[in-house]
Amino acid sequence: MTDTAGTGRGPEKYFQPEIEKMDRESLEALQLERLKQTVARCYENIDFYKAAFDEAGITPGDINTLDDLQKLPFTTKQDMRDAYPFDLFAIPATDARVQRFHASSGTTGNATVVGYTQNDIDNWGDTFARAIAQVGGDEQSVLQVSYGYGLFTGGLGAHEGGIRMGSAIMPMSSGNTKRQVQMMRDMGADILACTPSYALLIADTAIDLGFDPAKDFKISGAICGAEPCSEGMRKEIEEKLGVTMVDIYGLSEVMGPGVSCECRYQNGLHVAEDHFIIEILDPQTLEPVPDGEYGEVVFTTLTKECSPLIRYRTRDISRILLGECECGRTLRRMDRIQGRTDDMLIIRGVNVFPSQFQEVLASFDELTSYYQIVLSNKGPLDHVVLKVETVPSFDFDEIRKIEALQKRIDAEIKSNLQVSVEVKVVEPKSIERSEGKARRVIDERVK
Ligand SMILES: [Zn+2]
Repeated sequence: MTDTAGTGRGPEKYFQPEIEKMDRESLEALQLERLKQTVARCYENIDFYKAAFDEAGITPGDINTLDDLQKLPFTTKQDMRDAYPFDLFAIPATDARVQRFHASSGTTGNATVVGYTQNDIDNWGDTFARAIAQVGGDEQSVLQVSYGYGLFTGGLGAHEGGIRMGSAIMPMSSGNTKRQVQMMRDMGADILACTPSYALLIADTAIDLGFDPAKDFKISGAICGAEPCSEGMRKEIEEKLGVTMVDIYGLSEVMGPGVSCECRYQNGLHVAEDHFIIEILDPQTLEPVPDGEYGEVVFTTLTKECSPLIRYRTRDISRILLGECECGRTLRRMDRIQGRTDDMLIIRGVNVFPSQFQEVLASFDELTSYYQIVLSNKGPLDHVVLKVETVPSFDFDEIRKIEALQKRIDAEIKSNLQVSVEVKVVEPKSIERSEGKARRVIDERVK
């Protein structure tokens, strides 16, 4: 294998090659054994699951294959909120085995609280340690953790990864960015863990202070998660810091960062399938979609002792990527999160996400990255207008040119997304700008 991607630091590193490169058959046998244990643990110790199983007329004894997972009930975020704080714990919170709590911010409704035993914490650390290896780190690394520490899972999750790997950890937490830069330089950090926007701020601050971190610092890998990161932003972080940046995924309800993570080939996130079963379901029918197709990501935990979850509906949209990864890992890959099920549009029976339009539009040099989707009723059917904005250099006075562009966009969307929309090319700067989250979808439908 030639080292065309990534850190340029020689051969691929693994933290647990016996798991990460396990053959499919052995992995599935391991998953089944752990699934049975998890189902029994839930049924015997958590009233919510006992009731849900009884209502569905199934018992732990009915789970004999991985496909039997589909007989099991779902768990939603609302179920977790209703269980606040401890009703979904399989071990009483006061039990000596329970070592730590993490919780979601709970800005809308009750927080979701998750408990961890020492085994839970160690397993979590293992998954993050894999991420450290995936960007070329090892036990000699200096890991700068610039995620916030606290009930939020980012800081301590990355920290546990450093412990399991045996790296030296700089528990910086977030904030005081000039000091982050100083310490990064002086302590020779080679791996940075934080949100992508914070990685960029650290990079810009370093440059403002007169440094060139890409040349002068030892930093070579960044593990970034907890918020979406576009490819453009990734490139900017990589260039400014001189790193390989991988996207790491986690959610506080299931586990913090480490549920899945990209390797340095950056083509999908390897799922920690020894700890989680991933399903991709049609969010409407809740039936599995074929590999390669988008749907809602659903996780079942396989090793969690304190807060096991069966078929947790994340509302995140992704897909399983087909084929093998060049890194040699056999753990399947999920695509980067495309959006939330709440954002999904159903256009004449086809599920589409705004981000998919964005991908198609990105191939047109004549367009800016601003676009808007306007939904309205036209008779009994939904009508979709896709507003796209031209770059200033585009000759907007030539009607023929506009029509030709419209036609090409229309054809690209039809062939890529299998939906038909009305494309409207508009003048530069005519789509509203927003300082916060961009408003991509405007729903004018009368229900
Ligand atoms: Zn890989």
